Amino acid sequence: MNDTPPTRADARRALLGASRIAVLSGAGVSAASGVPTFRGPDGLWRNHRAQDLATPDAYRRDPLLVWEWYQMRFHIIAEVEPNAAHVALAELETRTDDFTLVTQNVDGLHERAGSQNLYELHGNLTKSRCEACGYLESLEPDFPLPPHCSRCGARARPNVVWFGEMLPQDAFQAGIDAFGRAEVALIIGTSAVVEPAASLGRLAAREGAFVIEINPEQTPLTPFATVSLRADAVTGMKQLLGDNVL
Ligand code: NAD
Ligand code: ZN
Repeated sequence: MNDTPPTRADARRALLGASRIAVLSGAGVSAASGVPTFRGPDGLWRNHRAQDLATPDAYRRDPLLVWEWYQMRFHIIAEVEPNAAHVALAELETRTDDFTLVTQNVDGLHERAGSQNLYELHGNLTKSRCEACGYLESLEPDFPLPPHCSRCGARARPNVVWFGEMLPQDAFQAGIDAFGRAEVALIIGTSAVVEPAASLGRLAAREGAFVIEINPEQTPLTPFATVSLRADAVTGMKQLLGDNVL
């Protein structure tokens, strides 16, 4: 019998030995790139809380205000680079048979870092989506506000999932499948207060996966974690994978 709680070394062994890994990432992974999180100290823009702007109601009330906010975030993203945590996750994928990355981030940095089996649960703010025909278009620097569809001319909205909206069902289903079969689930840089994304962590725990959390703070998923690393994303990935990956 061995009752000592699992350690960081156990987490490292579990991660490096696993052939099925599922990862849920959030805004904290992009913090080191210079992309503000929603619930951190930079969460206010012109005195609006991010959680209040990322809603269908806010867009109905003041579409230009919401678009200006997305344009500001678009410009941030255009100027930053993926950081060592994004790169480590892409690298981990190349050495794992069955690897799925489910992200709540809308910044496209995981894709730029080279992640392949990637599901963006909340869309991607580098694209607009036509409100009439659904056509998706990549936004160009200095795009006009609001952008209009180049197919049908109707107004386009940001291609993101707002609070209260449905997730893309194929992406969420892929997440359920991946977290349901994972040997190791890694929850990194998310406050885990947005549902149903956070439910993926509980699913993996229920199915007996080794759940690793990386976050400087405690979250509602911490009680479900086998090992919690109280670290920023870059440091946590380094602790798990060692310097050879970073
Ligand atoms: P969140 O803002 O709610 O939480 C951020 C979490 O990251 C917190 O738990 C915080 O403790 C942690 N964190 C802060 N700095 C960190 C670091 N350096 N390393 C690791 N963790 C760190 O973000 P969320 O959980 O992703 O969820 C909320 C919503 O925010 C999502 O729907 C997402 O679409 C949206 N969002 C996305 C971005 C982005 O794409 N980069 C940025 C802000 C918000
Ligand atoms: Zn259209």
